[in-house]
Amino acid sequence: MTSNVFGPEYVRAIAPYQAGKPISEVAREFGLDEASIIKLASNENPLGMPDSARKAMVDAMPESGRYPDSNGFELKAALARRYDVPEDWITLGNGSNDVLELAAHALVRPGEAVIYSQYSFAVYPLATQAVGGRGINVPARNFGHDLDAMLKAVTPDTRLVFIANPNNPTGTLLPAAGIEAFLDAMPERVVVVLDEAYNEYLHPLMQYESARWVRKYPNLLISRTFSKAYGLAGLRVGFGIAQQEITGLLNRVRQPFNVNSLAQAAAIAALNDQPFLEKSAKLNADGYRQLTEAFDRMRLEYVPSFGNFILVRVGNDDEAGARVNLALLKKGIIVRPVGGYGLSRWLRVTIGLPDENAAFVRALGEALA
Ligand SMILES: *Cc1c(COP(=O)(O)O)cnc(C)c1O
Repeated sequence: MTSNVFGPEYVRAIAPYQAGKPISEVAREFGLDEASIIKLASNENPLGMPDSARKAMVDAMPESGRYPDSNGFELKAALARRYDVPEDWITLGNGSNDVLELAAHALVRPGEAVIYSQYSFAVYPLATQAVGGRGINVPARNFGHDLDAMLKAVTPDTRLVFIANPNNPTGTLLPAAGIEAFLDAMPERVVVVLDEAYNEYLHPLMQYESARWVRKYPNLLISRTFSKAYGLAGLRVGFGIAQQEITGLLNRVRQPFNVNSLAQAAAIAALNDQPFLEKSAKLNADGYRQLTEAFDRMRLEYVPSFGNFILVRVGNDDEAGARVNLALLKKGIIVRPVGGYGLSRWLRVTIGLPDENAAFVRALGEALA
């Protein structure tokens, strides 16, 4: 051990989050024109932000010299109405990542256990490690959460369980009845974080009212975001829904002004912009069909997805993902390699506009030829 080592061992052990490559970086690295680059790497809404949110931001801009409303009164009121819960059950976050981290900070002591699934969102182990928690990575079943195995992994020092539904990066969906049975069986001292970042993409027939479960389960925290279907990824707004006790704890550890005023204004507008959500969901469903039909033609295996992205297998060797990713980057197409998840033969592609999907399919065909 060297003498000038700062910080706790568990912080030094963290492997930093690998974000999708920005367009400007790929342009520089591969000598490409930024305008020609297609980014299908971070599950952003290909329509961009809704016009309603843009207008709300412009209207809110003159007040930017003042601090934002620390309590997010108007946005919380709008969310409380939408989800039929009291306003003091809502926590606003600087993206839903913030909510996930607040949960770890408020609820986990160093050495205590946090359960999540193999092939689940990379932020769960990061949030766990940042507070010195012990991450328990439960093997997946068919690329999704194995709720029975996750329940069996609970020990007396388990404090938190993270579940993503739909899951990222695999796109799998747990049926509502399975989650309810899991919540029924979970000891009340264990908080379950149900991360529903892609919920708005679910077909109406697949929708379930998780906000109602919060009334029944005092140990449930639902996490939602404006980054995906609402098209506001760059503004960083998400929120949690939980009963007062958990919400009160999260409020103690959050930064006083964690959601900026332009983001609050845009989120209120987007929340009320049902036509934009419907347009986004339809575009996504059409793009899903476009991409999966192409994968079928190309005889490429993929995991059926309920989100706005698809995990597709691009080879049979452990370099396949990295190799095909590099070939795609050279053609100006950015997708997400998932070797860090232990999925080195696969790539995750975000569903884009029809032209973007077609360009990706063409480039993928060339990369595989
Ligand atoms: C994208 C994503 C989020 C959202 O992150 P934000 O901080 O709200 O942008 C949360 N959970 C999962 C599983 C995601 O894929």
